[in-house]
Amino acid sequence: MFKYDVIVVGAGHAGCEAAIAAARLGAKTLLCSLNLDNIALMPCNPAIGGPAKSNLVREIDALGGVMGEATDATYIQMKMLNLSKGPAVRALRAQSDKKEYMSYMRNIIESEPNLSLKQCTATSLLVEGGRVCGMVDEVGLEYLAGAVVLTTGTSLMGRIFIGLQSFPAGRLGEMSAVGLSDSLISLGFDVKKLKTGTPQGLMLVLLILAKWIFNREMKSFIFSLLSLIARFVRKFLAI
Ligand SMILES: Cc1cc2nc3c(=O)[nH]c(=O)nc-3n(C[C@H](O)[C@H](O)[C@H](O)COP(=O)(O)OP(=O)(O)OC[C@H]3O[C@@H](n4cnc5c(N)ncnc54)[C@H](O)[C@@H]3O)c2cc1C
Repeated sequence: MFKYDVIVVGAGHAGCEAAIAAARLGAKTLLCSLNLDNIALMPCNPAIGGPAKSNLVREIDALGGVMGEATDATYIQMKMLNLSKGPAVRALRAQSDKKEYMSYMRNIIESEPNLSLKQCTATSLLVEGGRVCGMVDEVGLEYLAGAVVLTTGTSLMGRIFIGLQSFPAGRLGEMSAVGLSDSLISLGFDVKKLKTGTPQGLMLVLLILAKWIFNREMKSFIFSLLSLIARFVRKFLAI
């Protein structure tokens, strides 16, 4: 039996902040996650901030959080968006180095004296007298705590859809978290799924081709995409 003041389930962005905040307030804290190599992973575009989100990063910073600090230390590109417009719509947006960001965050977490890390899956909550008092992991170990914070992102009963294929997964290469949803349902919570998505990566040359087609070639007719590409290549190389 393990005993903590606070348990945070999920070492994503929310979980890292919650665990660091609890630890810095003096609480003996456990941060557990499915895969400790994926701490603070950005599963898609590694952007921090941007419209409607840069204010959030600064609010987290004002509350003593670390997302802003980690971004400043690991960004590849940082831009103030909408500078040509009024101040209300301006927003700072950074593109961070995914790996650097993750290792920076892991270093902060591992340097916090009150904070422990554990790779495990929380499968159910322990409740006593109507209050949460801990959680159980996938091998049946019990962890007691005064508070349990769930920041489980997209992983609970997660599924990935690629084309017509679908399979259980938290994120690509990471298993789906099974058990906790049923535990929440049995405690009377209404559990629903939301969808997130990663767009196709586009090659710059395809975008230039598409623009050229729409600007010029739609005026003339053509059957085959191949002849269109050949025409584009000839024009591009001026031959
Ligand atoms: C493919 C993809 C693309 C996305 N693209 C964008 C985007 O472009 N922009 C954007 O803003 N958001 C995007 N998102 C959403 C993204 O998940 C969130 O922005 C962000 O990661 C949420 O942070 P979080 O801390 O809430 O959750 P996450 O970062 O998902 O972290 C949750 C953590 O909890 C762990 N966990 C879950 N269940 C358990 C359990 N039972 N026991 C132990 N650990 C558990 C997971 O392993 C994970 O480490 C995307 C998500 C995916 C999957």
